Amino acid sequence: MAEKKPLTGMPCEEFTQLASSGHEKPVGFRNRLRMLWHQIECVYCRRFLRQLKRIHGLLAQPEPEKPMPGEMRTKLHKHLGDR
Ligand SMILES: [Zn+2]
Repeated sequence: MAEKKPLTGMPCEEFTQLASSGHEKPVGFRNRLRMLWHQIECVYCRRFLRQLKRIHGLLAQPEPEKPMPGEMRTKLHKHLGDR
């Protein structure tokens, strides 16, 4: 099975590895550029990255906002009213 070799010479394996570890440790400028190129020419890694981002986006979502406690609200109103 002959695979088309990407111009950047970056194998998909390396791309996925860098992409998944990039959140823990920064990826160097050179590798970032190579990853960018790889994304352009490799549809599979584009898809992979999109999924990865979605997963991280879900994990990074902040806690649902809690309603402001009533006491704090009245204090705020008082404070605003004093002005
Ligand atoms: Zn790839």
